[in-house]
Amino acid sequence: MPRARAFALAIILIFALSGRSAGGAASALPSAEVPKPFDLADRAFILCWHSFLGKKELNTDFSLDELAAQLDALKSLGYRFIDLEDALFGRIEGSRNLVATIDDGHRTIAPAYERVFASRGIRPALLVYPAVIGESPYFLKTEQLQGLVDSGLAVGSHGFYHLFVTEKLYKSDRPAFEKEIFKAKTSVEALTGLPSYFYAYPFGAFDQITKTEVERAGYEFALAVKPGFVYADERLNDRYEIPRTVVLRDGWGALTAFLARNLGTLSVVGPEPQTWTESDEFPAPELWTGETKVR
Ligand SMILES: [Zn+2]
Repeated sequence: MPRARAFALAIILIFALSGRSAGGAASALPSAEVPKPFDLADRAFILCWHSFLGKKELNTDFSLDELAAQLDALKSLGYRFIDLEDALFGRIEGSRNLVATIDDGHRTIAPAYERVFASRGIRPALLVYPAVIGESPYFLKTEQLQGLVDSGLAVGSHGFYHLFVTEKLYKSDRPAFEKEIFKAKTSVEALTGLPSYFYAYPFGAFDQITKTEVERAGYEFALAVKPGFVYADERLNDRYEIPRTVVLRDGWGALTAFLARNLGTLSVVGPEPQTWTESDEFPAPELWTGETKVR
C-alpha cells in the first residue's frame, strides 16, 4: 500500500473509531459533548375561549365587551398575542407571549373576530369539529369559516362529533374513534382548503393511544388542556400534549394573577391544574346541538 494512502486510511480509521465524521467534525462536536442549556425564557402561553353570547351564568361564555376587556387587560399586563403557528414552530421571543385559540366553532366567533380580535391585530386559531359547521344554527356557516380562513385564521381539528377520544372509545368503537381523528382531518381540510396539521382533544381528554393515532393521522401537534407553556426550545415540548388553559369566568382572577407572576421569571410558578368536564364544555343548548350523530 502506498504510504500516502495508508496515512489517509489511518486518519479515516481514527475518526471512525472516535465516532466522528471526517468532514466538519470540529463544528459538530461541542453540542454533543456539552448539551445546550434548556431555553425557558422564550415561551408562549396558550389560551382557549369558547363562545361570545354574553351569558353570565356560563363559565366559558363572555360578551364581546367582556372579551375586549380581557384582551386589553392582558395587554396592559405586558403581554402580546402571537399566532399559534409561530408558537408551535418555535418562532417565539421572550416570555410575554400569549396565543388565542377558540374551540368548537360557535357562530359568535365571527362577530368576535370582526369586532374585537381583528382591531387588536390578534388572529385566534380555531379548533372546529365538522359535524356542526354549516349544519347547526348555533355554529359557524361554512362560508363564515372560509371568510375567517381568508382573514388569516388557522383552523385545526377538534374531533368530528366532539366525542371523548380515549382508549375506552378505541376499544369499544374503533370506527368512531378513527373518525374523530382521521375523518376530522380530511373534513376540516375540505372546509378550509388548507392542511389541518394541529388537533385539539375534545374535552381535553386523551390517552396514549389517542396521541399515537393523532400522530399517525399526520397531525404535527395536538393541544391538551393542562398547565404550562409552549417553548421555543422544542426539547421542552411534547408535540402531542401542548399545554393550554381554558378561559373561565370564575378562573379569570387566578389566570391573570398567574400571568402577572410569570411575566419574566425563569422558574414558572404553576397554576392549579384545570379539571374539564362535559358540562363545562356544553353548559347550555345554545352551545350544543344535543345530537352526537348529526349524519
Ligand atoms: Zn370542544
